Amino acid sequence: AKTLGRGRYEFFDVELRRRMQRRLRLEQDLRDAVRLGKLWAAYQPVVDLRSGKMVAVEGLLRWTHPVHGAVPPAEFIPLAEESDLIRQLGSHVLRMTTHELAARRRSGLDVELKINLSTRQLDDPGLVPEVEEALRTTGLPAKALCLEITESALMRDSALAGETLAALREIGVRLAIDDFGTGYSSLAQLQRLTLDTLKIDRSFVMRLGESADAEAIVRSIIAMAHAVKLTVVAEGVEHQGQLDLLRELDCDQAQGYYLGKPMPARELWG
Ligand code: C2E
Ligand code: CA
Ligand code: CA
Ligand code: CA
Repeated sequence: AKTLGRGRYEFFDVELRRRMQRRLRLEQDLRDAVRLGKLWAAYQPVVDLRSGKMVAVEGLLRWTHPVHGAVPPAEFIPLAEESDLIRQLGSHVLRMTTHELAARRRSGLDVELKINLSTRQLDDPGLVPEVEEALRTTGLPAKALCLEITESALMRDSALAGETLAALREIGVRLAIDDFGTGYSSLAQLQRLTLDTLKIDRSFVMRLGESADAEAIVRSIIAMAHAVKLTVVAEGVEHQGQLDLLRELDCDQAQGYYLGKPMPARELWG
């Protein structure tokens, strides 16, 4: 039994080392990709449910690795979050997308830009000056920029993050709570945060029309959000049935593959 035990440890050792090496290499590659400007943003339309018009786009980071091909953000964002790399990555996204949107707006397009902020960025005192700088250099109006923060990041009790949020509000940028429904925030917390938008997590939208529970949850999230004057966006809409139901439930805006996948700017606008 002893040798078996040791054998297993050795196996895990080899396996673990292999995995750590892949991570290390991926992290190094990501560092290079950020430095060389190889990351790009795809834009996904957000549609107003009353007018049917595209009122915003969400910028989503894309990385095409020379060997592994497309690496999903769900894999490389957490990797970047383990080090200061997330700051460089966040700055890059901010500069790149505000630049792109400002140019589109100059040629007459009236849409808002939504981008994602990670927890580490909220705790970074350098974020606010960076946002101001991006708005100043691109000429994008503050109210045309919406920063999305996940419910779990917002519900941490961080004094630093609280200050960042207050300063961002001061500048006039919009704030959204992302992936709502996955955490445990109360109506009181929602009100205290003074946000502009609430995004209902895809896991609820996905089950709309199939589960009465999901419908009840979405209905109550919308009522709760409207009670504190938040605009509600449903994410992950994949078919017409969900869209009809969301309209019935008085949801304001929607986003999802059915309305448009994330795509390169030139594909979305020509
Ligand atoms: P998220 O902010 O919740 O973004 C929505 C995700 O859902 C995107 O995945 C989008 O492609 C996907 N999606 C949209 N509509 C549908 C649909 O109808 N069906 C399905 N199955 N999926 C849909 P993506 O692009 O892979 O991004 C995953 C996550 O990575 C994002 O979730 C966000 O948390 C993070 N992320 C992406 N870009 C950035 C970034 O620039 N900065 C930070 N901090 N995080 C980012
Ligand atoms: Ca988001
Ligand atoms: Ca989301
Ligand atoms: Ca999500």
